[in-house]
Amino acid sequence: MLADKDRIFTNVYGFQNWGLKAAQARGDWDNTKALIERGNDSIIQEIKDSGLRGRGGAGFPTGLKWSFMPKESKDGRPSFLVINADESEPGSCKDREIIRHDPHKLIEGALVAGFAMRARAAYIYIRGEYIREAEVLQAAIDEAYDAGLIGKNASGSGYDFEVFMHRGAGAYICGEETAMIESLEGKKGQPRLKPPFPAGAGLYGCPTTVNNVESIAVVPTILRRGGAWFAGFGNEGNHGTKLFQISGHVEKPCVVEEEMSIPFEELIEKHCGGIRGGWDNLLAVIPGGSSVPLVPAHDIRTAPMDFDGLKAVGSGLGTAAVIVMDKSTDIVRAISRISYFYKHESCGQCTPCREGTGWMWRMMERLRTGDAAIEEIDMLHQVTKQVEGHTICALGDAAAWPIQGLIKHFRPELERRIEEHNAQFAEAAE
Ligand code: NAD
Ligand code: SF4
Repeated sequence: MLADKDRIFTNVYGFQNWGLKAAQARGDWDNTKALIERGNDSIIQEIKDSGLRGRGGAGFPTGLKWSFMPKESKDGRPSFLVINADESEPGSCKDREIIRHDPHKLIEGALVAGFAMRARAAYIYIRGEYIREAEVLQAAIDEAYDAGLIGKNASGSGYDFEVFMHRGAGAYICGEETAMIESLEGKKGQPRLKPPFPAGAGLYGCPTTVNNVESIAVVPTILRRGGAWFAGFGNEGNHGTKLFQISGHVEKPCVVEEEMSIPFEELIEKHCGGIRGGWDNLLAVIPGGSSVPLVPAHDIRTAPMDFDGLKAVGSGLGTAAVIVMDKSTDIVRAISRISYFYKHESCGQCTPCREGTGWMWRMMERLRTGDAAIEEIDMLHQVTKQVEGHTICALGDAAAWPIQGLIKHFRPELERRIEEHNAQFAEAAE
């Protein structure tokens, strides 16, 4: 279990004040100038050495992403850092805790990361529903400006750096990085084709890096304690500490910072008081937010909670939003509800997603009641394969994978419902 001394987010439960003075007492903004004076390339190298992988879900190496940013400005064009605080993945609520209880970690991280990638400004795009969080964040940004920590000659470093907060308007798809850039530019939030990646052509056509809140908020601590310290946690290729968000049928749902790669059973026993009704009552777990396939009880218990460990059991870490379902769960209904979510949130720009998400949801609803033919289970699986990998952004994959997981692990349950429904129908007809 992670020792208290190794926690980065020491105020994640809000026991202390979020304001500047309290944040400084916790070690934030401690000689930030010295961090900046290390130089752009040295900061990027330290982040590479730490093994930090993006905490928004995809797990792309953060230092490598920063190194794609140009070292020289072309035609006087500025570079930008965009911080993705549009946390909308069902089950995810970690960035909310950082913003409302530890906002100065994020703002200091924005300055140091922004400097490293030679950005002139950071735009923090916050989910529209996070109303109180947006109030706290703006107040913390104002405090940092008033104290000279950001803005002209930020923290006395000689570097000018602006931080802006932008509120979203309730669209899940604006959490996709290129849809977020479109939205920041004042357009309808629809994903762009990649490549070009944002480092080549991002906000206003300028070089841009989009990073998740947690990825940026851990940066100052990594620089102070060293990349090797961060890399000392977790398994090979899956380093650091991580905020896990555990919801559903555990005794005590919580958000907790733990060592990457902690086995699932240990995570639940140590922080959540176990599974409701005991381990024999566990049915399945969605370990990384609704975009990843479920894992049945027998496969998840010893799985390391990291990118590769969960891939090995057919799923993924995603945002580390762990949704626990016990045997009281109607698993078909749960996955059908997730299908409805993706149908509702599809931006409609590509046909396989626009048509496929609706088709999959309607099919899931018929499977939920059993009003289907057995052959339609395979037909549904084929449709998920037509959607997966054939769309502009990852929403198509995210809509397909939970259904594939259900068919893979719960086909007998789907067949049972259809047979039961048909038997009732036949009985009624007699
Ligand atoms: P992605 O793998 O396409 O990209 C990840 C990041 O790496 C992006 O910033 C991208 O620009 C960069 N990248 C990837 N390949 C690159 C290359 N060759 N050159 C330069 N940069 C490159 O994934 P994505 O679509 O950004 O994110 C999908 C993930 O988002 C899912 O795994 C899901 O878990 C997560 N997600 C999170 C939330 C949330 O609320 N936090 C919501 C929805 C989805
Ligand atoms: Fe829009 Fe869906 Fe295509 Fe993504 S996959 S661009 S959400 S239609």
